[in-house]
Amino acid sequence: MCTQNNISKVTKSECKKQAHLLDKLELNTEFFLSKSHANLHKHCHTKAKSMHRNLTLHSVCDDPERRKNYRKAYHCSSEALERDGILYIGKCKKRHCIMCQHIQTNDLINAYLPSLKALQEEAPLFMVTLTAKNIKATSPKALRDEIRLYNKEFTRIKDNIRKTHSMTLNGFKKVECTHNENTDEYHPHLHLIIQGQAEAELVKAYWITQMKKRHGRNKVSNTGQKVVILGTEESDLVEVFKYATKGSVKDSEQAKAEDLMFGAIEGLQIFKPIGKVKRTKRTSEEGTAGIKADWIESKNQNFKWNTKQKDYLSKEGLPLVGTQAIDELIEIKATININVNYQANGRKTIQSGSGQRNYSISSIPNGSSNVFIQSNG
Ligand SMILES: [Zn+2]
Repeated sequence: MCTQNNISKVTKSECKKQAHLLDKLELNTEFFLSKSHANLHKHCHTKAKSMHRNLTLHSVCDDPERRKNYRKAYHCSSEALERDGILYIGKCKKRHCIMCQHIQTNDLINAYLPSLKALQEEAPLFMVTLTAKNIKATSPKALRDEIRLYNKEFTRIKDNIRKTHSMTLNGFKKVECTHNENTDEYHPHLHLIIQGQAEAELVKAYWITQMKKRHGRNKVSNTGQKVVILGTEESDLVEVFKYATKGSVKDSEQAKAEDLMFGAIEGLQIFKPIGKVKRTKRTSEEGTAGIKADWIESKNQNFKWNTKQKDYLSKEGLPLVGTQAIDELIEIKATININVNYQANGRKTIQSGSGQRNYSISSIPNGSSNVFIQSNG
């Protein structure tokens, strides 16, 4: 039974969850004037997220150099210059900038995927995860030293396998680090793509014996190391190109841990090809190409980022993307979607923050995003 007490409001965040689904399904045809327009809309939201991340990291960081880098990342892509129908947006190339991370991931995929696929045609590829005991790190240096130790041990493994077994390792290496909020411990680890099962198993075995021998019996556990065969889909291989840290800054403790991790990996090589894996040469257009501004009239204009509107504005104050209007349309569409589903099913299940609850809709004011629904959960 519905009572007045359990009447709840569909919040913007619930609508956004619906909008997120729509985002994937049908936005190109309904809300955007071209593919580039849709991509730039997505970019605007990523920029807003990246600004929030870097502002938070800046507020908890006490290292002047890193603070400077967070500022640079905060201001990344603050201008869009339209020249002859192409938009050029500057990049900061910092690791903690979400937009530049995305670009780096794409660059790595383009650069190394062909070589890894060729390797996989010769013999199966395996994902090897090498871990050790979590550490308490009070400074970026302490964590960096630990990561360096892992890299050193891996180099030793490669040499041992070559000398003792006459095998050369081929594949790819990535350094990753996560933080456990409950224990305030850091978990640096290596993700490797290794060609051949015998080679992958040898890497794992050497890691366990070497780490125990050199750093104590409790340094690694036998169960913490993994060897998993990789599928042949592109999505199976690209996992290794993802960022070194998660970059979440939902509270200041998490932000402090992220800042420490970013400090630790500063100057370290995160991604490294192994053996005969080579970078595919870039074409001359890659990296310099702009975005086709095919939904606006070309006037060789400059646009400046406006945080409030999550958009680039012309000198006259006109939005380049129309982020706010599009977001409102998506919200309206989401509420209509809820209503349509309700009419079809009598009841609509919405995932809310506290778990799944059943709702039935009592009224939808025309054109308003404040939809009132009654909770039966
Ligand atoms: Zn950037």
